[in-house]
Amino acid sequence: MRITRLAATFGAMALVLAGAACGGSSDKAGGSGSGGGASGIVGKAAGGKLTFGVKADQPGLGLQTGSTYTGFDIEISKIIAKGLGVPESGITWKTTVSANREAYIQQGQVDVVVATYTINDARKQKVNFAGPYYVAGQDLLVPVNSTITGPESLTGKKVCSVSGSTPAKRIQTDHKDAQLQQFDSYSKCVTALAGGQVDAVTTDDIILAGYASQPQYAGKFKVVGKPFSTEPYGIGVKKDDTAGCNKINDILKAAATDGSYKKAWEDTLGKSGKPAPELDTSKLTNCS
Ligand code: GLU
Repeated sequence: MRITRLAATFGAMALVLAGAACGGSSDKAGGSGSGGGASGIVGKAAGGKLTFGVKADQPGLGLQTGSTYTGFDIEISKIIAKGLGVPESGITWKTTVSANREAYIQQGQVDVVVATYTINDARKQKVNFAGPYYVAGQDLLVPVNSTITGPESLTGKKVCSVSGSTPAKRIQTDHKDAQLQQFDSYSKCVTALAGGQVDAVTTDDIILAGYASQPQYAGKFKVVGKPFSTEPYGIGVKKDDTAGCNKINDILKAAATDGSYKKAWEDTLGKSGKPAPELDTSKLTNCS
């Protein structure tokens, strides 16, 4: 009995080892080996639960009120969860800020990040991106009477952005004459703008438009309206989860044609009157 059990154990171990050995290269391709399978979102979703990392202070995109999250990124998350077979009740929302998105994915604190998250090469070293599901552009939010007309008029001006974000980085590299002030969230920048501590807030135009349209700032701010970058919004998953990334792209393809993408827009950002953009599925990532 003892011997049989031992033999069975070794047999099972041999099988596991053999599986691991031949799983090496197929891991990348299918994401179903030890990396993608164990921690991949397709496998995890089979258990009916997923944790989404989203923003909590960006009106129209990801906004937390009490325990409820609303916005376009939240609706996109729900579409993805549904496509993976996870009911809304199986979604756990977790607030992320710009600087901790890669780390949260890598550490498994969240399964998926949908958080105005620009796809770029530096981030691709650490995570995998599906999408883009929207393309924004960096812009400036300024008081209505401001003389700032674009990034070229930022010399000596106090410009607020968020640490770990692409707009903060762009100010540091391309607009060194500006005085960059960094917080961990854009709402803190907007409060500083309202209080006159900074001259402008910079991030993606669609995020700025959300702040400008908040009732408490009515008539106070304007978005300059001259975007000076391209910010394709991706959906972040673990770097080795190629299968999960591909699955999300398939879900986005379906959402582009079945009306759910349009509905996600119309229920959130579209309320401002801005028509739904076209989700260009020919531009979806190749999921490394
Ligand atoms: N899309 C930019 C980024 O991913 C700015 C918005 C944000 O910080 O979330 O860095």
